[in-house]
Amino acid sequence: MFEKILIANRGEIALRILRACREMGIKTVAVHSEADREAQYVRLADESVCIGPAASATSYLNMPAIISAAEVTDTEAIHPGYGFLAENADFAERVEQSGFVFIGPDPEAIRVMGDKVSAKQMMIKTGVPCVPGSEGALPDDPQEIIHTARKVGYPVIIKAAGGGGGRGMRVVHAEAALLNAVSMTKAEAGAAFGNPEVYMERFLENPRHIEIQVLADGHRNAVWLSERDCSMQRRHQKVIEEAPAPDIPRRVVERVGERCVDACRKIGYRGAGTFEFLYEKGEFYFIEMNTRVQVEHPVTEMVTGVDIVQEQIRIAAGEKLRFRQRDIRITGHAIECRINAEDPFKFTPSPGKITAWHPPGGPGVRVDSHAYAGYTVPPNYDSLIGKLIVRGDTREQAIRRMRIALSEMVVEGIQTNIDLHRNLMADPCFGKGGTNIHYLEQKLAEMFSENIRHT
Ligand code: ADP
Repeated sequence: MFEKILIANRGEIALRILRACREMGIKTVAVHSEADREAQYVRLADESVCIGPAASATSYLNMPAIISAAEVTDTEAIHPGYGFLAENADFAERVEQSGFVFIGPDPEAIRVMGDKVSAKQMMIKTGVPCVPGSEGALPDDPQEIIHTARKVGYPVIIKAAGGGGGRGMRVVHAEAALLNAVSMTKAEAGAAFGNPEVYMERFLENPRHIEIQVLADGHRNAVWLSERDCSMQRRHQKVIEEAPAPDIPRRVVERVGERCVDACRKIGYRGAGTFEFLYEKGEFYFIEMNTRVQVEHPVTEMVTGVDIVQEQIRIAAGEKLRFRQRDIRITGHAIECRINAEDPFKFTPSPGKITAWHPPGGPGVRVDSHAYAGYTVPPNYDSLIGKLIVRGDTREQAIRRMRIALSEMVVEGIQTNIDLHRNLMADPCFGKGGTNIHYLEQKLAEMFSENIRHT
């Protein structure tokens, strides 16, 4: 096992990784920007290194600074967390070339999955169900594009091969708008992602977002650890996640879970990963794979008892998985609310000093957060300040516990989306379960128009 790990990230996930390392008796190095110098988790690490100014481009994305920090601290392995450099194949390669272990899949797997066209081709080859669409990238020939769209069936969605974060997509409802949409998406993709390649999929009208968590050890052992339902989204950003997904027959989920595991074995995948699917009318359709730990990993941990971050570390150290599929049991139900420093209904960021911080507690309640009273949320990074996760024996109990936890939680000095979560936990459709990916946006639009009417 490693003696020392450098955590190339910040905020709640840096603290989460730090906790995993401490439990495993591994020393830690925290790297931080000038804006995060005073963060308490930095002090909990055995060593810390400032890697640059506040702007991410000069600190958390600064590969040479992170690698030098690993060199001067005599680190053995680097955990990238999520975001920043976590899915940057060049970074993974440079880490390994510099003699460190990258805690994640090998650079080639990151590269293949980072390109949505090659990822999809790989999935088709390994038998994972995909959204019907173009075979590979769209050609230049307009007639061929029109022909492909007719075959796929309208509405279609044009997506950038290099896209991410919900950007680089355009929905087309009729042939008249097709060619223009393709050329605009290509131009945007070229400018934003440095890759003008686009592909086409059938646009699913009312899907849910269901994803499968996997762990694979690079010795051809792989397991899937339950699914997560992340359909509560705003602008393609997840707001609430839960496990298991309500109201999907177990054998349907199991079948897709087994396909994912099979794909991991065939590819020789190593590490934690998430296969993201859209789910509509009883069918799963692969959309992309994330080759890292996800923000929402705790809901899976809460229902399986597996510590995903510790397993990532063990796998990177070359260990074999200590459990088989039959050892994985899903018990109870878990829900996560992402706590953001933002206006609860307008969603404008709300950085600043937290003057009061009272996290909830009690049976089945977990808070993953680096925040505390007196902590200043810097304006330079995303607005996630913590995650509130609860587990119950049933979904109903989990919702009840989440309502109580949210009622106990106090954050003052900045605005947060806690009120939005309180509202959603009382929402009858969420209570029923199984809402689609448009539900939250529709609800917000309704709430907003009511507000306007009342004022
Ligand atoms: P990104 O990497 O930018 O998050 P994804 O491929 O994961 O891109 O898609 C993001 C979101 O866009 C999905 O969660 C879904 O809401 C929507 N989307 C993507 N593909 C389709 C599709 N074929 N039909 C309907 N919605 C889609």
